[in-house]
Amino acid sequence: MIHHEGPPPFDCFEALAARGVPHAVFTRLGGHSQGPFASLNVGHTVGDDPACVEANHAAIYAALGLGADRVVSGRQVHGCRVVRARAEDGGRVVGVADALFTTEKGLALLQRYADCVPILLAGPGVVGIAHAGWRGTLARVAAKAALAMAEAAHCRTDQIIACIGPSIGPCCFEIGPEVVSAVRQAFPQMDHLLRAGADGKAHFDLWEANAAQLRAVGVGEIEPAAICTRCRRDLYFSHRGDGGRTGRFAALIVAGG
Ligand SMILES: [Zn+2]
Repeated sequence: MIHHEGPPPFDCFEALAARGVPHAVFTRLGGHSQGPFASLNVGHTVGDDPACVEANHAAIYAALGLGADRVVSGRQVHGCRVVRARAEDGGRVVGVADALFTTEKGLALLQRYADCVPILLAGPGVVGIAHAGWRGTLARVAAKAALAMAEAAHCRTDQIIACIGPSIGPCCFEIGPEVVSAVRQAFPQMDHLLRAGADGKAHFDLWEANAAQLRAVGVGEIEPAAICTRCRRDLYFSHRGDGGRTGRFAALIVAGG
């Protein structure tokens, strides 16, 4: 990824930067929040001081030169609902949406993460963003977003590129037997998505499970950040790594830059 000093600091994907798509993946650094939310927490529902969360949002928008009235987000529930954001959605939360996309020039899409997988998508005249933990990954929210984007923008899925952001890696994402069966059911013949960890427990490769479902619907180019949030708790909020009490970092993508 390409590092920008900010403030606050953020990183960009090579593939999106090469196509001139404005976007950013922030870290937990450079914000106003304290304690477990230190410091650039953008989650309103995690127990942080609302004034700090607002100040963090303002800092992020300023770093990207965005007006708050151009930013759209959704309520993330580990589902697979894909919502198309329209011009009038600027400055709003559009309701339940684990994936957002838009063809509206100048509109920015924001989602919040702490171990779940950020997936940033861009095609001709269309951008999207998805949030996929294990439930969203099994429900194929990223693939559904890519298909909805291709339909709305009248392009082919092989014209869409996908970038997979910092999230809990196969090194750390231990799952129990019930999730192992759910993975096997959702991804038959893909046992390589599961591996045995050093602890003998099963680990699930969320990065490859999302990449595989995107390739299956024709997405041409996929860039993985390959950064584990649990291994890099110094840089990112990690739900697992921080025992559940933590903040959320932001990823954003802007249409038609
Ligand atoms: Zn890890």
